[in-house]
Amino acid sequence: MITSTTGPQPADFADVRATNLAVVLRFVREHAPCSRADIAASTGLNKATVSSLVADLIDRRLVRETGLTENRVGRPATMLVLDGSPYAAIGVEINVDFVSAVAVDLAGERLLTWRRSFSAGDSVNQGVAAVGAIVRRVVNRMAKEERQILGLAVAVPGLVDVQGTVRLAPNLGWRDADIGGDLAKALRDPGFPIQVDNDANLAALAEQRFGAHAGAADLVYLTGEVGVGAGIILDGRLRRGGLGYSGEIGHVQLDPDGPACHCGRRGCLEAMAGIGAVLRKDPSPAEIQVEIEESLRLARAGDPGTLATLESAGRSLGRGVSILANLLNPEVVVLGGYYVPLAPWLLPAVEEELRDRVVAAEGGGCQVVASTLGHDAAALGGAARILDSVDSGRLPGGLARIP
Ligand SMILES: [Zn+2]
Repeated sequence: MITSTTGPQPADFADVRATNLAVVLRFVREHAPCSRADIAASTGLNKATVSSLVADLIDRRLVRETGLTENRVGRPATMLVLDGSPYAAIGVEINVDFVSAVAVDLAGERLLTWRRSFSAGDSVNQGVAAVGAIVRRVVNRMAKEERQILGLAVAVPGLVDVQGTVRLAPNLGWRDADIGGDLAKALRDPGFPIQVDNDANLAALAEQRFGAHAGAADLVYLTGEVGVGAGIILDGRLRRGGLGYSGEIGHVQLDPDGPACHCGRRGCLEAMAGIGAVLRKDPSPAEIQVEIEESLRLARAGDPGTLATLESAGRSLGRGVSILANLLNPEVVVLGGYYVPLAPWLLPAVEEELRDRVVAAEGGGCQVVASTLGHDAAALGGAARILDSVDSGRLPGGLARIP
């Protein structure tokens, strides 16, 4: 079917209603506990409309009244908070050496975090089976808690197009895989939406919502797994690019004569500052954690070879971060994955490169920090993406009432 639009269409009544419900829901998320009068005063919606919208959100069990009242001049007001209990959002990450799952409630409270090992080189079918198995367990747990699943988003390290098809995940050896469709089949059409996205994109959403720099409008997340990718948030929004392939900073060439990269080229950032470069070998997935711990032990003991390797990887990483800072001027670049424990040794070189290579003074104000969300950032970001879609008006449950 071909559809065409001839410019902006007038928003119909249902659209306005959904938009206003989302406005009220976001206000409660950010300001709870708050009263209906607070919502009216801050959003510009009139009090009758706010009452109707709040009643709708209560019907949908997204918002609930608390016994709290606010002491101020005039009548005490019934306060509103998000209702965390009836819903759950699920995020899953599949990566070279693990599958992890996170569930959060509507208020963003963590309900569970599970992780199991996974072996890259497994086929797409085996990958889908591994994700399906962990999701089934999460869904069963949530059902026991009588929670409705708002949705599932799966993070994959690779190029994921805007339709959610994994076009290329080089470190998993996957190409043109409809993970979402396969997963829906494996879960026997579970009745909630399944989305698939790039791991760095989802981790950036997790940082924006839950991280130490939550709320930053201009933030870049850099994955430090076997691959290095960037999730880019500019002006408050995730920037995917035309087909969804933005952020492949890992394959920006730093040195034409540099080491071979998994992508078939030479001297990519990933080959010079990815985990393989840090460890000076291409470890098998099962070895990575042990090798990182050994590297940390040697660094703490002041082993000169290890310190030199980490400094060299930090310099390459700093060159990559400088490219991001010159192009995008982020407030903060968050280093994730295996970069987190290594950050004390990587950051001095990164910061020096940033000072040398960014045209704007002080690196354009760019801070480089280690993530506080750890290895679960992308899975948590999957859950964040589901909450984002609720916040932007895809509300579960209930029927919109006529105001
Ligand atoms: Zn490459």
